[in-house]
Amino acid sequence: MSYVDEVLELVKKKNASEPEFIQAVTEVLNSLRPVVEANEELYKKNAILERITEPDRQFMFRVPWVDDKGQVQVNRGFRVQFNNAIGPYKGGLRLHPSVNLGIIKFLGFEQIFKNSLTSLPIGGGKGGSDFDPKGKSDREIMAFCQSFMTELSKYIGADVDVPAGDIGTGAREIGFMFGQYKRIRGTFEGVLTGKGLTYGGSLARTEATGYGLLYLTQELMKCHGESMEGKTVVVSGAGNVAIYATQKAQQMGAKVVTCSDSTGWIYDSEGIDVALLKEVKEVKRARLTEYAAARPSAEYHEGRGVWQIKCDIALPCATQNELLLEDAKQLVANGCKCVCEGANMPTTIDATEYLQQNGVWFVGGKAANAGGVATSALEMSQNSERLSWSFEEVDAKLQNIMVNIYHNIDDAAKRYGMEGNYVAGANIAGFEKVVNAMLAQGVC
Ligand code: NDP
Repeated sequence: MSYVDEVLELVKKKNASEPEFIQAVTEVLNSLRPVVEANEELYKKNAILERITEPDRQFMFRVPWVDDKGQVQVNRGFRVQFNNAIGPYKGGLRLHPSVNLGIIKFLGFEQIFKNSLTSLPIGGGKGGSDFDPKGKSDREIMAFCQSFMTELSKYIGADVDVPAGDIGTGAREIGFMFGQYKRIRGTFEGVLTGKGLTYGGSLARTEATGYGLLYLTQELMKCHGESMEGKTVVVSGAGNVAIYATQKAQQMGAKVVTCSDSTGWIYDSEGIDVALLKEVKEVKRARLTEYAAARPSAEYHEGRGVWQIKCDIALPCATQNELLLEDAKQLVANGCKCVCEGANMPTTIDATEYLQQNGVWFVGGKAANAGGVATSALEMSQNSERLSWSFEEVDAKLQNIMVNIYHNIDDAAKRYGMEGNYVAGANIAGFEKVVNAMLAQGVC
């Protein structure tokens, strides 16, 4: 049995109740086979794959808080510190009822390679809670965030572990958590990213994941002799990533015709009105039915369905496992040329393989959505030097990073005879740097 298969079996046995984690490890290790085979003796002797698939440590804790009726509620909090070979742990905090340890581990594992790809010195981690921010008052959100940070503050720090936003954790939540950290630790430091601009946040961080996704997509198109101008784009999600991906795609001359949320989706033949979408989702925090009610060219549909719409480019920007095999078949049948993931692992393994086998240029989230964490690392740099850079400066650095990521993953795939396999290219490029650091640092 090969070393990769041995470790995959071990991971499945040790983490049997964590399907998303097993899915992520399977996808990564399978694509690393050529690199591992070329270095099998060294990696096996140093147990590189066993070490990289086992978190450095993971915390699970009770989060008690009081709701507006005076009732005590209890949620579960998580922080997984996966690998700090190349820098402090870095990764977002997800607040969603579906959150469990397996999901946080899958996200933390993916984060190691994504962070490495940015070329910045950040390790991999992730956290969150099964708390549902939907329908909660600001006071309830604050009560939860303060309780969550009361425990989390014991494990994080500007040079140790620097969490950020993710699904359900936006500027409001980061603000409440930062305030509580400061209060408990008595220190003003860059312990969280995604902060407000008045207290250490970076310009362009809000836009970074969506914009970065488009900078990479544009470079990919350019290298295949195409441009964004006049292309029809299908986007899923209606959150931070989806909104700014839509905005940048439209600035580049493409037409984005869909968005979606956890209950339904919109087809807007005139192109999504970003200002209206922001008003509905960021200000009113309402359902997409309100978008359709305000826009005559928009149709609202219950359930899921954006991938049925004919497009040149598809950008899944909502959540994991939202683009299934049947969706991939529909995209190919409709002539879609390119799929770049704004969300983390939105495409299932079989759907990814189908897209790749049918000539679709497919870039996974690890590379395509790395703009968010890259800009978070730029926020850390600004905090460390106690300066803030202009929007244009940060945006230019982001663009440069995303263009470099595209070329690095393209080169890595070519080096191992897998030209055009950007998934393998991303895993290889991210992995090589982390492994070199692990080998240099000995058994730890
Ligand atoms: P948001 O919470 O801002 O938005 C998430 C969107 O996805 C919302 O429209 C939400 O619908 C929808 N959604 C969430 N869960 C589900 C579900 N189970 N089924 C269907 N739709 C769902 O999150 P972000 O935009 O920040 O994140 C989106 C994805 O991008 C995630 O996978 C995240 O990990 C990833 N990502 C985010 C980064 C960032 O900087 N924000 C960086 C890198 C990756 P509703 O409005 O109904 O809640």
